Amino acid sequence: MSKMTITDLSNLEGKVVFVRVDFNVPLKNGEISDDNRIVAALPTINYLKNQGARVVLFSHLGKVDHKDSEKCAADKAKNDMKFVAPRLAALLNEEIVYIDETRGDKLTNAVKNLKNGQVLLMQNTRYEKGESKNDPELSAYWASLADAFVMDAFGSAHRAHASTYGVPELLNKEGKPTALGFLMQKEVEGLNRCVDITDDNRPFVAILGGAKVSDKILVVEKLIEKADKVIIGGAITCTFLKALGYPVGNSRYEADQLDFALKCVEEAKAKNKLVLPIDHVIANDFAMPIDVRVTDGVVIPDGFERLDIGPRTREYYAKILANAKTVFWNGPMGVFENPLFADGTISICETLTKLTKEKGTFTVIGGGDSAAAAAQFGYKEGFSHVSTGGGASLELIQNDGHLPGIDVIADK
Ligand code: ADP
Ligand code: MG
Repeated sequence: MSKMTITDLSNLEGKVVFVRVDFNVPLKNGEISDDNRIVAALPTINYLKNQGARVVLFSHLGKVDHKDSEKCAADKAKNDMKFVAPRLAALLNEEIVYIDETRGDKLTNAVKNLKNGQVLLMQNTRYEKGESKNDPELSAYWASLADAFVMDAFGSAHRAHASTYGVPELLNKEGKPTALGFLMQKEVEGLNRCVDITDDNRPFVAILGGAKVSDKILVVEKLIEKADKVIIGGAITCTFLKALGYPVGNSRYEADQLDFALKCVEEAKAKNKLVLPIDHVIANDFAMPIDVRVTDGVVIPDGFERLDIGPRTREYYAKILANAKTVFWNGPMGVFENPLFADGTISICETLTKLTKEKGTFTVIGGGDSAAAAAQFGYKEGFSHVSTGGGASLELIQNDGHLPGIDVIADK
């Protein structure tokens, strides 16, 4: 790792360490439905506590609209960090200092009075209008309280905000240490296996599925450039098939992405890289699937929608994947939320976890829904790395390992 990491920091006793965590947990009426993100930050927090640091945690939580004052008040009420504080305390098994402000005397004094090994959590950083704009004054205020900065919010590392970029940038200038936390380090190491591809790590196979080509143009381009094979599944299949002139029945496709899809196909074809499904699971209707069938070939008949890869495609893909040394997967193969259309996604999970176990294939999932599918079907632990950041993981791949929140951290 070329960047400073948390274990490179020394003499932390009594130092105020600002840690940008990702506590952007799903909330419903103030109840946390999934505390994975808080749990994922614990190794970094506990390490700093054990070193005797005074630990100040800050994170965004949901969105706050600062343009409309009524909406702003409602967003603040909904995304109040006070909902997170008790869960953090429970997970740490100790009292924490919770400050319901993002700047001012109350926060400044609480930071000054923090004891060694104690943890402070401040209010949602997005209560500040300047957070998302990387406002210099806001960054300067936070930086003035900190002796060191640790970045551990991978899901926010693709944003150059005050808390992810402005603060560490200022601390670097002042000669104060900045480093990646344990969670960030794991993400960077895992995902970089798909960035710095050496001959030893090939064949490198990318599996791309999911909902929309338009969300993923840059990552598709990058993977066609880097991977030895790019396997396609999910709803994006139909945009590729349509571009090639195949009938897609009633399936959704993106008319404005056909040129791009064709360009990809041509580029990839020249290099014999792009792999498309050879059969599909189709149904009369996505919402009310009464008539569910498997196609004979690639053509989707009128009156039907493509909703998963078919059984022959599952076998075909498993064969291609069997030779891979590195695999990056983004996007489910079908509408896995419905068990009728989950087999394609399950087969990818099964194939990849088996390869990891039996052959040591390095398998990476980047993408929120793909990771959720792997977790739902019980395969998550079998992958080499499952990224916690959907958007951030794709941006890291398309930017050759660079993200603002990583780049700003001091080099070793
Ligand atoms: P990720 O979050 O892993 O990047 P996406 O957000 O791109 O993945 O896509 C996930 C969604 O794509 C899933 O909710 C799934 O239901 C949907 N999807 C996959 N295949 C199809 C299809 N054929 N038709 C409609 N939706 C699909
Ligand atoms: Mg998604």
